[in-house]
Amino acid sequence: MIKMIPLPYTLKALEPYYSKETLDLHYNILYKGYVEKTNNVLRKLEEARRANDYSNIKCLEKELAFQGSGAILHKLFFENMSPPNNQNSLQFKIMQKISEDFGSINNFKRQFSEAAAVVEASGWCILAWVPEFEQLVILQCEKHQDLTLWGCVPLLVFDMWEHSYYLQYQTRRPEYISAFWNIINWKEVNRRFLEICN
Ligand code: MN
Repeated sequence: MIKMIPLPYTLKALEPYYSKETLDLHYNILYKGYVEKTNNVLRKLEEARRANDYSNIKCLEKELAFQGSGAILHKLFFENMSPPNNQNSLQFKIMQKISEDFGSINNFKRQFSEAAAVVEASGWCILAWVPEFEQLVILQCEKHQDLTLWGCVPLLVFDMWEHSYYLQYQTRRPEYISAFWNIINWKEVNRRFLEICN
């Protein structure tokens, strides 16, 4: 069984870039739902194994991928944000690698923002490390239940589903994207990067 992570900051800590109401809905309703539904399907899989009855297995595996991916990506999303601060992100090793792999930090921000702007409805924009390539890439994940690149490790994930910004930004997705750059927890992204690439 999985547990919700505690929110690493208060509900209003990301304001004005991400409102208290939006975060409340996103964390306490949407994310909670993914965690509960992941646990439901884990229980159903356990029942299926116990009863040796796999008649519903296709449906259960799909549900596990959908709800489980939702739980994981939301955990990372909440962790990879932090209250606006003067964090000097350039001190982190990942920024050096971003510069190498994208040409510059600005190139990276531009490509990430452009990719985020055109993700279709139920999607994410993800900065990821590909161990086999020893390279960082940006991926658009349009159905999070379908892994878009086997073996990739998400580092910075950005929720592009409407529920994550409509309360505050309505259809103004570009404003949501610009705001996001103010509340990224690069320290946490760097920690994940070092954990994986070292
Ligand atoms: Mn979401």
